[in-house]
Amino acid sequence: MVKNITFNDGNSIPQLGYGVWQIEDNGAADAVGTALETGYRHIDTASIYGNEVGVGRGIATSSVPREDIFLTTKLWNSDQGFEKAISALDASLERLGTDYVDLYLIHWAKPQQGTYLESWRALIELKKQGKVRSIGVSNFPQAQLREIIADTGVTPAIHQIELHPYFSQEDMRAVHSEFGIVTEAWSPLGQGGELLKDPVIVEIAGKHGVSPAQVVLAWHLAKGIVAIPKSVTPARIAENFAAANVTLDTADIAAIDGLTRADGRIGPDPQNPEF
Ligand code: NAD
Repeated sequence: MVKNITFNDGNSIPQLGYGVWQIEDNGAADAVGTALETGYRHIDTASIYGNEVGVGRGIATSSVPREDIFLTTKLWNSDQGFEKAISALDASLERLGTDYVDLYLIHWAKPQQGTYLESWRALIELKKQGKVRSIGVSNFPQAQLREIIADTGVTPAIHQIELHPYFSQEDMRAVHSEFGIVTEAWSPLGQGGELLKDPVIVEIAGKHGVSPAQVVLAWHLAKGIVAIPKSVTPARIAENFAAANVTLDTADIAAIDGLTRADGRIGPDPQNPEF
């Protein structure tokens, strides 16, 4: 059973979701349909993924009612700014074929662009208008996260960041605890690379008779982190979902905690002005 985690605004999010980055628009409807049939009730997309139309179609043609699905999309960097963000959400809703999203995130802070604060004010307004149920951020350095909270008095419900056993973001998670922000992991499986072959993960998987991907996802869930693994393979979509039923013991969790390393990041550093 996938648990729900309650946000600081009173809404809640299914802890295990389905991510659709790098799924083509014309394949997204089928992929989302498979995920919903499998039991996922949380889909994570973004305007930059170019698949909001397909995601919307997958939702509309499934047997699952829209109100039973938690849908996230994200504001792209070039759409930052107050008015631009308001219009960008309207365009996303149009493509998704829905009149609200459950969660809207600023995709990257892009500190050097200098528009993250007015973008955050736009998200606050969109929540007031009811077009988005909850608002949050993604890829924010600590300084910018603290700044938007201090300047607006509105704390993001969630912060979506790169997080997996090779890069466990303990410092950022401590900031989240300080403010009551839910942590959401992108690339929770480390993009399916070396991590799933790590001897520590493989050994724990053998001990419990589950797969390495399930061990990694069970680690996220045990730590209260929201995880959104991506796959287009139906068997893996199901395998990842079944990780909600895998229980690790304290020693397993401690061993996996020990895998984190300073250079474990796969994606760009949100503080890097070059990105
Ligand atoms: P992931 O960690 O979910 O890994 C996905 C890859 O792992 C798949 O392409 C496949 O190769 C492999 N895989 C999946 N299930 C497997 C299994 N059971 N066994 C073996 N291999 C398996 O990586 P991701 O797609 O980068 O991240 C997940 C989601 O996070 C994305 O789809 C997207 O929604 C979100 N995301 C957000 C940001 C952001 O900037 N906010 C950045 C990257 C990703």
